Formats: sequence, structure tokens, C-alpha cells
Amino acid sequence: MKNTFKDYPLLESKKKSVPLFYPHIPKRAKKVVSKVLSGRWVGQGPLVDKFEKVFSKKFCDNLPVVAVGAGTDALHLSYILAGLKKDDEVICPVFTCTATNIPLLYIGAKIKFADIDPNNFNISIEHVEKLITKKTKAVIFVNYGGLICNLEKLNFLAKKHKLLLIQDAAQSLGAKYNNKSISRYADFTIFSFQAIKHITSGDGGVLCIKNKSLFKKALRIRWFGIDRPKKQGGTWENDIKEIGYKYQLTDIGASLLLESIKEFNKIKSHRNLICKTYLKKIDKNNNIKFLTNTNKKIKPVMWLFTILTPFKDLLQKKLRQKRIETNQVHFRNDKYSIFKKFVKKNKFPNMDKIQNNYLVLPVHTKMSVTDAKYISKTINKILK
Ligand SMILES: *Cc1c(COP(=O)(O)O)cnc(C)c1O
Repeated sequence: MKNTFKDYPLLESKKKSVPLFYPHIPKRAKKVVSKVLSGRWVGQGPLVDKFEKVFSKKFCDNLPVVAVGAGTDALHLSYILAGLKKDDEVICPVFTCTATNIPLLYIGAKIKFADIDPNNFNISIEHVEKLITKKTKAVIFVNYGGLICNLEKLNFLAKKHKLLLIQDAAQSLGAKYNNKSISRYADFTIFSFQAIKHITSGDGGVLCIKNKSLFKKALRIRWFGIDRPKKQGGTWENDIKEIGYKYQLTDIGASLLLESIKEFNKIKSHRNLICKTYLKKIDKNNNIKFLTNTNKKIKPVMWLFTILTPFKDLLQKKLRQKRIETNQVHFRNDKYSIFKKFVKKNKFPNMDKIQNNYLVLPVHTKMSVTDAKYISKTINKILK
């Protein structure tokens, strides 16, 4: 694999530091945003429509997509479209960005957390199977850091028990399964364009819907419950029958995303190359283990590079002294007070084992392969 961005090591720059995250701003960002600013549409206008078409073709095998203001909006919208109501039982990951689970609290759904698979920190499918009851309505899963779940097994379970599948793909944009878009393997798939995701509009998101008949409803719920094209066309019946939100993307955001999509293939190879460099250089260190994709059917686009070590605190501290930023990024959700009432009896042995041992290393397009090599060397020196 070739290094696609120019190799300017951050560690040799003025600041001599490597941040954990850095937003990817496309080359022509200022130009395209400034064009939007001098036009009529700065909110949701024609560029959002164009973005939806381009995004669907590039990432969702032409399934219907709805652009929204954040990944969290997309998740909430998917829960509404899935028909989840107060006290409905849903199975969701105990380890994820809180954005996955918090919108379930908006609805009042009954959360059943599933433990992690220790190999990739994704949802444990064995545990999911144990948690399924007659009352279970949906399984929500995350592809952690770009590592993809076993989508075939999840689909098999969903079919067998008549469950809806909701995929949080905020960290796995562009990933393929059996050479198909991962969005084909769930009823709903969401993506995020928050500042540090693969591509960004500052904040933004997409909901991809497999069932085409829900598409129009999704558009209405995005905009107060109003049929906006009809309203703009003067043919709206002038009534609101369902509660909607204000969850739209703006043309300013869409202009940035359309430019970023043009650079996506480069972003993808750069991120994967940084991760490969870490893998190669730290591989022989006996104090460190990695999370990996072993399923040959998966083509991932890495977002996080996570290592496991019993010396997490020491390593993080020493790396900080060398101006290399690392962090755990996400924490088990069952420990947060807002979720306490759902975790009385549940046990998460896999999560317990690793909760103090994982650490995420920098991966972004501002850093270079030289930085990744230097970070690896530094890690190997600290944990000899
Ligand atoms: C970033 C992220 C989200 C939320 O996206 P926002 O755009 O910040 O609302 C949801 N789930 C996961 C797993 C994420 O990493």
C-alpha cells in the first residue's frame, strides 16, 4: 500500500506533538463553503439532495439515505422508524460511544446490554443470543473502530427471531462485507460526520434505510413532521400528524462532505496504512495485544487503532511526556448513572477483563507513516 498523503511528520513540526484525533478538511473546503455562503441556500437546500445521491451511490449500494444534523439524530430517527416505543426491549452494546444508547432513553425503551467480544470489542453475538426473549424488538450494534461485526450471524439471528437490526456504522464508513456495502446487512444503518470521523461537516450524519416505504416518513420526521417538498410546492395539506424533529443537514455541511467524498479513497488508504504500520512495528511486543478483523469477508476502513496492555496507565503517561496523545475514548456504558436502572443482574465478564487495559493510538490524515513508526518505536522502548 502506498502512502497517499505527503509525509510531513508532525513530530518534526513546530509543535512536535501528535494529537489523538484531527479533523480531515478537504483541500478545496474554503472555496466550496464560500460559494455556498454567497448563494441563496445555506441551510437545507439543493446541496443536501445532491450529497444524499452521491453518498448513497458511494457508500450504500444506492439504498435510500437521509442526511441529518448528527449521527445521534440518525440513531434517534432509526429508533422511531423501527417503531420502538416505551418499555420495548432492545439489545445494545455495553461498550460504545454513548450516542448509540442515549436516544433509547429519549424513547423510554428497555435496554438490555450485551457484553463485548474480546477479540474486537464488538457486541458478543453469543451474549446477544442469550438475551433474546419474546419481547425483544431490535438489536443495535456498533462496528467498533472500524472492525466489523459478523453481519451474517447477526442477520441469521434477526431472521430467526424476527428482530430489527440497527447498525451504528459511525466508525466504519466505507467498509465492505462480501464486497457489498455494510448497509445492506441491517434494516437501518447510521453514519456520523462529527469533527473527528473519517469525513466531517463539523457535525452531521446519515441514516440509510433498507425498507424504501419508510423513506418519506423519515424525511417528514427530519423536519417537524412536515412534508417539506409539498409545503415548498404549495400543495401541503397544512396539518402535522406526527411529531417530528429538526434534524436536517445544511448546505454548508453538504458542500464540505461532497468535497471530502472525493478524497475518501485517499483517506481510507492513509488510515489503513497507519494502522498497518502500527501492527507491523508493535507486533513482536509481548506486552501488547491488538484488536483484529479475522473474518476474510470484511474489508474494513480503520477509524481507531486499539491496543491492549496491562501497563495502560504507565504507557499513556510516558507517551504523554513524549507529546503523543492516547486515550481510552469510549467507556462501558453500564457504569453511567443514566443507565443504572438497566443493569441490576447483568454481568459482563469480557468487559470486566479489559476495562482498564485498552488504549487508543493516534490515527488521522494529519499524521504521517513516519509518526506511526516513531510512536511504535517509543512504545516498544517503554514496554520492553
Ligand atoms: C461518533 C459516534 C456517534 C455519534 O455521532 P454524532 O455525529 O457525534 O452524533 C454514534 N456512535 C458512534 C459509535 C460514534 O463513534
